[in-house]
Amino acid sequence: MPEIHEARRERLRASIQAADVDAALITDLVNVRYLTGFTGSNAALLVTSDTALLATDGRYVAQAGAQAPDVELEVERACAVALSGRADKLKVRRLGFESHHVTVDLHGQLAGQAELVPLGPAVEELRTVKDEVEISALREAAAIADAALAEILEGLVMGRTERHVARELERRMLDKGAEAAAFDTIVAAGENSAIPHHRPTDRRIAYGDLLKIDFGARVAGYHSDMTRTFVVGAEPAPWQVELYDLVFAAQRAGREALRPGVELTAVDGAARSVVEAAGHGLNFSHGLGHGVGLQIHEAPLIAATSTGRLRALTPVTIEPGVYLDGVGGIRIEDTLVVREPSDGGPELLTVTTKELLVLD
Ligand code: ZN
Ligand code: ZN
Repeated sequence: MPEIHEARRERLRASIQAADVDAALITDLVNVRYLTGFTGSNAALLVTSDTALLATDGRYVAQAGAQAPDVELEVERACAVALSGRADKLKVRRLGFESHHVTVDLHGQLAGQAELVPLGPAVEELRTVKDEVEISALREAAAIADAALAEILEGLVMGRTERHVARELERRMLDKGAEAAAFDTIVAAGENSAIPHHRPTDRRIAYGDLLKIDFGARVAGYHSDMTRTFVVGAEPAPWQVELYDLVFAAQRAGREALRPGVELTAVDGAARSVVEAAGHGLNFSHGLGHGVGLQIHEAPLIAATSTGRLRALTPVTIEPGVYLDGVGGIRIEDTLVVREPSDGGPELLTVTTKELLVLD
């Protein structure tokens, strides 16, 4: 799909103009992939007002030709240095570089070819707004995760270890066409559910436990992200129902706040104020959500400390949690695409029920 990558480079050219530089040197491999389709492990990209030049080493010549047929190829191991060496010939005086990514050492090697101008996360900002190709990959990743979880919920979890359930969920996602799990699956039972990013252990899932599962699938490089919390074996205890209803209400408030143009802090606040009003503010120890795409965590971050506003066609997670140390915790997380109200409002990608289920 070369035309999609060219369209993305056109958007970058607008940022290049706004930053008053003649070209951008892209060294972050995820950003190189976003702008060209090339997925090799050594590359850099130079984008000027009228051309794009991809550098990679000899191992990847055939792959680059297949994935990025519409850009000129330079074969060199020291990719970024080779591209900056072309600055003079391309009449690039001011060269924008990814200042959040280039090391001090690389900066030293690039110096002297052109005036180096920090560009900051310009490509990451472009990446927040997804095109339809990206959204359909995310939609498929979320559907695979939903289907894999449905199979796990039909079976038995009581008596199995956290690790067993995590492995089983990942295997089923692969069987359904995921290229990988989106990240290391979190399965956390009982008191472990109070640890936000618990790593699955050999603890067995027991009667009366809360069971928190946070996982996703990766499709064509795009990551889905979903958390559900269940009760195992027994009718939920009153404290479990109370906590669940609270997190559910906060999550709904966060979802309902998703609108193009809204301040990121206002989205966080919509959910957080619900948790705070119930006296659990200190037990909600992380941001409300994050962008997803070619990375599992990417811009925008939705937190009390965020700056900026949401934009249409931005996929984000909404994932409030309340964690009672040593007792248990609940998190409910969806991936949604922000859309204009006239476009139907936020599109829910992770459709597994959010009712409190009791698992066998
Ligand atoms: Zn998650
Ligand atoms: Zn997440």
